[in-house]
Amino acid sequence: MAKTIRQRIIEMLSQEALSTLELSVKLGIKEKDIFYHLEHIKLSIKPKKFLIEPSSCKQCGFIFTKRDRLAPPSRCPRCKGEYIQTPRFLISQ
Ligand SMILES: [Zn+2]
Repeated sequence: MAKTIRQRIIEMLSQEALSTLELSVKLGIKEKDIFYHLEHIKLSIKPKKFLIEPSSCKQCGFIFTKRDRLAPPSRCPRCKGEYIQTPRFLISQ
């Protein structure tokens, strides 16, 4: 039986940390849909297993630690830079 998108995402994130953009390229689906699936995956597995490498500013190194939403911020609150490393997600075994 074919694997569902969510099963494939879980499998991929169990092997390496990936951003939503990387997932969307690998799976050939819209990044917007990746967020949707991730929200569900986050609720379906144990919270401790769902790890988020936070967004950071490529310009000044500011780390966005207090964000609850999965979508990355568009600007850095410290230097107003727009070069943001999007968060990466990882599922621990
Ligand atoms: Zn910055």
